Amino acid sequence: MTAWVTIDLDAIAHNVAELSRRAGDASVMAVVKGDAYGHGLVPSARAALRGGAGWLGVAQLSEALQLRAAGIDAPLLTWLHAPGVDFGPAIQQGIDIGVPAVWEIEQVAEAARAAGRTARVQLKADTGLARNGAYGKDWDLLRDAAARLQAEGAVEVVGIFTHFAYADAPEHPTVLQQQQLFAERVEDAERAGLRLQVRHMSNSAATLTTPSAAWDMVRPGLAVYGLSPVPQLGDPADFGLRPAMTVTARATVAKRVPAGQGVSYGHTYVTEHETTLVDVPMGYADGVPRHASNVGPVQVAGQRFTVAGRVCMDQFVVDVGDLPVEAGEPVVLLGPGDGGEPTAQDWADAAGTISYEIVTRMSTRLPRIYV
Ligand code: PLP
Repeated sequence: MTAWVTIDLDAIAHNVAELSRRAGDASVMAVVKGDAYGHGLVPSARAALRGGAGWLGVAQLSEALQLRAAGIDAPLLTWLHAPGVDFGPAIQQGIDIGVPAVWEIEQVAEAARAAGRTARVQLKADTGLARNGAYGKDWDLLRDAAARLQAEGAVEVVGIFTHFAYADAPEHPTVLQQQQLFAERVEDAERAGLRLQVRHMSNSAATLTTPSAAWDMVRPGLAVYGLSPVPQLGDPADFGLRPAMTVTARATVAKRVPAGQGVSYGHTYVTEHETTLVDVPMGYADGVPRHASNVGPVQVAGQRFTVAGRVCMDQFVVDVGDLPVEAGEPVVLLGPGDGGEPTAQDWADAAGTISYEIVTRMSTRLPRIYV
């Protein structure tokens, strides 16, 4: 194999068990959107369920349907839809639909009537993120529509949820404000006769740092894959988490070049001495950030080196000095870090981004190896 991604499924199961322990009585909805943050949707979902997740969460209907098509019948919530989406298959397959607006619950109800079924919905309240969710007066309209459509039998409102803006800064005043407004929304919905079975707001960061926000369920994504959502507060190990992803490539070429040789497009790196350059067959088409040119870390034969010159579409170069390497030498881009290899967080720091983006963007052209 040229380049590949290894996924430790036991680590995913372990992480869910750890999150579940931290969540106390609340159940865990493992968020597996974005191809399980690059880890592979179906195998990761199964590992999360094995670790004790009671629910799975995805952004898009197509992701939910893929899980059902794979035979996964766990409770499942999907929350990001545009007008005109066909809700029929989701209703038929008992998938909970997160609704942030009246247009959406009306379309869900219409699809439910057409299918002769009752659709399961969860209301999405905007308590301060100002993203997807019902805000201000729109909340009142959504609540009223939900009560009316439930009375009619088109929908059953099984839950309510919201999302934090600053969960990674637990002392930020909005964390408490959002909790307070969410409590008001819950009370308001219950007063309207909606019997909510699940009330949830905590992503990974809130699950780890704000246990008071756990309600009936927590909704972690990043931590399921063993990465720290609050790197300024702790590494994965500090939270009892094990990173699940390792990314490796085999060198295609190793060659000696003289001092003064410019490397890769634009020659932004120039060798200082005679040295060995190793060509690594991964580039930005595989998810290696071009922003990591000249700074991205790798491990070769147990030693750390840095990307030399620009990251290209399919490859980048590493200057390994006098290290005796040949074509075929494994180059580890990232892993759990316990063998001295760089981590997803190291790549995020090098590229000026977050670890979410590093793992999620590992291209599907890299085979996933499940161990
Ligand atoms: N809930 C919702 C609505 C989300 O959009 C996300 C991801 O962005 C999550 C939960 C999981 O967040 P995290 O990966 O930070 O735990």
